[in-house]
Amino acid sequence: MTGALYEILCYALIGLAAPVFITLFFITAGYGRHGNGGWGPEISARTGWIVMEAVSPIAFALFFLSTSPSASGLILAVMWLGHYGYRAFIYPFRMRGSGKTMPLAVAVMAILFNIVNGSVNGWGIAHARHLTDAWLSNPIFLGGIILFLSGLWLNLHSDAVLRNLRKPGENDYKIPNAGAHKLVAAPNYLGELIEWIGFAIAASTLAGWAFAIFTAANLVPRARAHLLWYRKSFKEYPNKRKALIPWIW
Ligand code: NDP
Repeated sequence: MTGALYEILCYALIGLAAPVFITLFFITAGYGRHGNGGWGPEISARTGWIVMEAVSPIAFALFFLSTSPSASGLILAVMWLGHYGYRAFIYPFRMRGSGKTMPLAVAVMAILFNIVNGSVNGWGIAHARHLTDAWLSNPIFLGGIILFLSGLWLNLHSDAVLRNLRKPGENDYKIPNAGAHKLVAAPNYLGELIEWIGFAIAASTLAGWAFAIFTAANLVPRARAHLLWYRKSFKEYPNKRKALIPWIW
């Protein structure tokens, strides 16, 4: 990849974020609770998650390894590969529910996004001049890592609360009443967003920010769709819960 292509791809992701953000308030991606059978052929949800998430660390590693990394670059790579290694190879085997499917179209869109996103982030970290060994002690790097780890914790904890609502093999939905679920409908998305904002701060690369912006464009409208779905599905769903940001929205 050249520096010019890197910039084009990053700005393309940022440019796409606005239309994606607006569109997703009107059309919710048809997987999970929002699946309605209207998105064409379906595949096993577990296979979908493995394939669509595995391409990201592979693309990242291919471009990251194109130069010899600094210590700060290595730490950022461990953060990326750790997150995606979990999401691709552990999370799909922990999901509860039997016979779950997802639209092939959703998996294909995620694969395309993850190939581009993994590639630019791997390349961006490998070639960023500020990511030297000295960056290790920079407060921006350290603050970003703390934010990333906080978001990771919130995401894992919130996903665990959801997982524990179902016994193995059960497919029904219940009202989650633990942790940050007491405040918002999608605390796992809030954790995910905090993670990638933390990563963007720690890396301070164009690609890191492009991903954080795109994650917001994707997850903010979906959190709103989750809240509306809970209110429609459960009369007793607590009225004071927000979509994504406690007490605010
Ligand atoms: P959801 O919160 O919609 O679902 C997570 C899991 O919990 C699913 O297995 C779901 O089952 C189950 N579940 C959800 N709500 C309930 C409930 N009320 N009762 C019982 N079970 C429930 O998250 P997603 O599937 O959209 O995302 C999964 C993970 O991937 C999250 O950690 C998310 O942050 C991350 N992600 C990251 C994205 C990014 O842009 N970086 C994009 C999308 C997801 P079912 O499948 O049957 O609905």
